[in-house]
Amino acid sequence: MRVKKTNTTDKSTFGLRGVGKQIAKHLARLDIFSIDDLLFHLPTRYQDRTKIQLIRQLIIGDHAVVEGTVKAISAPNRGRTKLLCELHDESGVMHLRFFHVLSFQKDAFKPGARLRCYSEVRLGATGLEMIHPEFQLIEPHKTIPVDQHLTPIYPATEGLSQYMLRKLTTNALDVMTKNELFQELLPQTLLQPLSFPTLKEAIQFVHRPPREIEVTHLLANKTLSQQRLVFEELLAHRISLLNLKHAFQTQAAVALTKENKLTKLFQQRLPFKLTNAQERVAAEIKVDLERGHPMLRLVQGDVGSGKTVIAALAMLQAVDNGYQAALMAPTELLAEQHYRVFKNWLEPLGISVAFLSGNVKASERKAVYQALADNEAQVIIGTHALFQEDVTYANLALVVVDEQHRFGVHQRALLREKGMQAKYYPHQLVMTATPIPRTLAMSFYADLDCSTIDELPPGRTPIVTSVIANAKRDEVIKRIRDACQQGRQTYWVCPLIEESDALDCQAATKTSEELQKCLRDLHVGLIHGRMTSAEKADVMQAFSQGKIHLLVATTVIEVGVDVPNASLMIIENAERLGLSQLHQLRGRVGRGAVASHCVLLYQYPLSDLAKERLTVMRETNDGFQIAQRDLELRGPGEVLGTRQTGELSFRVADLIRDSELLPQIQKTAEIIIKDHSQIIEPLIKRWVGDGNEYGKV
Ligand code: ADP
Ligand code: MG
Repeated sequence: MRVKKTNTTDKSTFGLRGVGKQIAKHLARLDIFSIDDLLFHLPTRYQDRTKIQLIRQLIIGDHAVVEGTVKAISAPNRGRTKLLCELHDESGVMHLRFFHVLSFQKDAFKPGARLRCYSEVRLGATGLEMIHPEFQLIEPHKTIPVDQHLTPIYPATEGLSQYMLRKLTTNALDVMTKNELFQELLPQTLLQPLSFPTLKEAIQFVHRPPREIEVTHLLANKTLSQQRLVFEELLAHRISLLNLKHAFQTQAAVALTKENKLTKLFQQRLPFKLTNAQERVAAEIKVDLERGHPMLRLVQGDVGSGKTVIAALAMLQAVDNGYQAALMAPTELLAEQHYRVFKNWLEPLGISVAFLSGNVKASERKAVYQALADNEAQVIIGTHALFQEDVTYANLALVVVDEQHRFGVHQRALLREKGMQAKYYPHQLVMTATPIPRTLAMSFYADLDCSTIDELPPGRTPIVTSVIANAKRDEVIKRIRDACQQGRQTYWVCPLIEESDALDCQAATKTSEELQKCLRDLHVGLIHGRMTSAEKADVMQAFSQGKIHLLVATTVIEVGVDVPNASLMIIENAERLGLSQLHQLRGRVGRGAVASHCVLLYQYPLSDLAKERLTVMRETNDGFQIAQRDLELRGPGEVLGTRQTGELSFRVADLIRDSELLPQIQKTAEIIIKDHSQIIEPLIKRWVGDGNEYGKV
């Protein structure tokens, strides 16, 4: 995981021996602006140079330090080797092979010279050898001590050698031992039961591990010192999120307590009964909305678990109380679909539903603005356009954000700010179909309360997924014909192939033409990102009315599209897509009572990772399991989308590697908030920084 540093701009405060203007410039390239930053610049590897080994005992493939006398030198005239040097110690002989030799090194390559070398031991044509080892010339009759510590290897940059970084960190460690840096913040009562060392001890340790420590142990990040650093960092992040949540939840919001007439009416008219999970989640939301502080709740539910109804119920509670409610979707297509659904559901109840997106024409937009300002529209569905500068709401009490995984902490905070009315904040409900693995939820969504819809509506048959080579495309086309002749409908998804939207649309267009040629008696439709929203809406409408049998699409249909009669999905080039995207796409089928199928078409050759993903998809339909595997395969930054990566970059922690620590961190965070609130601020400042997204409410 990438390492994040405080952005201390005042570079003159560096004040470390050995750091002049030039070095400071190089350090800045590593985001190091202070002694603290330098000490948080942790080694990524370590070498053991603490023992001198006998040549006879060397193991091929190991890195080792040897010391010996140069016996013979030769300069082969073939190959890259400039210099071949025979080195003897009391136990045997080996060769050192050099590709280039600098003039000041000439002394080292004379018979009789004593050298100490460090490199990987290899088996060459003439026996054991080291290729271009690091070496030190030892003057006659002198000895140099071996290293007392394992050698740290730091992330480096041009102009800053490992040697220089070691020298600078040595100086910085000196400063740390002598003065106030890295004061202990965590109380002894919390550290002791975990057997953690102090912060200073931990920092000293990771930069200069004692020679007895196993390098492999260090690399696994399992030492108490390493764990201690990770612990404090994740603790600080968690506390800062909880802090943010607390600050927000002490604000005022309207308590939506009036009797739920519309809600009841709506439920009576629904053609289905809510699942137990839906009932539970709806009840949790209802309680939140009745309080005078803003709700901040995340609803997780796998694709098709029925989140839209939950949103509608919450919005009706606002309308029942005479307030407005907004629903924001991440794409035009999804916003429009929600709009249609909500109009169907709510207009018969006498509620006026409005729509707003970037594509709405200026004249219409004006009318919508007016309706929102005059409280003529009670429910508004749209995209980001809902929170543009010039939109004012008469009395907005609830904001629902669908498919939340695309928004980060910062964006959530911003949204709340925008929704802020004269005296109160709106309640906020966020819904995601990308289940968030527990690890991520704890660290990344700690500012939200969480409800889970862990049950699908009854009568769904699980989707059967098969993985088929593109070479067998003909068979797949035959399957489409069979399915459509039985009255079913099919999606054919062409995922992003080029970086360019235009080329992708071309690819989808071509595919649809080809498929139409093969399937003359079927109606093949096409939808992609380059079409206007009116065109897209027309196609979707035709598809949901069954006029289109086979819909060829780019990944624009990824989220939220709902056509229950579609029971077959083909995903082309499935090997290029990530797990969560595949799962989202697949979730477009399996929405009706008939058995659904998903065919993942792939192109040779498959990478190991792609193979793994396709296997996971074939083996499970469980979104939570898929999300966990996705997290393991790709890492948290990727799973949450690039926008959030910044929020998830830690100095020392790695959410996947260190997930075992999280339960303890959760407990400790609560204790600190309750009993040690004086350390909250310095702790957040040390690890999370001050001018950042967490600090603001
Ligand atoms: P998602 O959670 O993916 O947003 P939707 O809200 O789009 O799911 O719901 C998927 C489909 O299931 C819709 O057609 C919806 O009307 C239907 N549905 C939702 N809840 C139930 C239920 N309790 N019983 C039957 N069908 C339901
Ligand atoms: Mg949805």
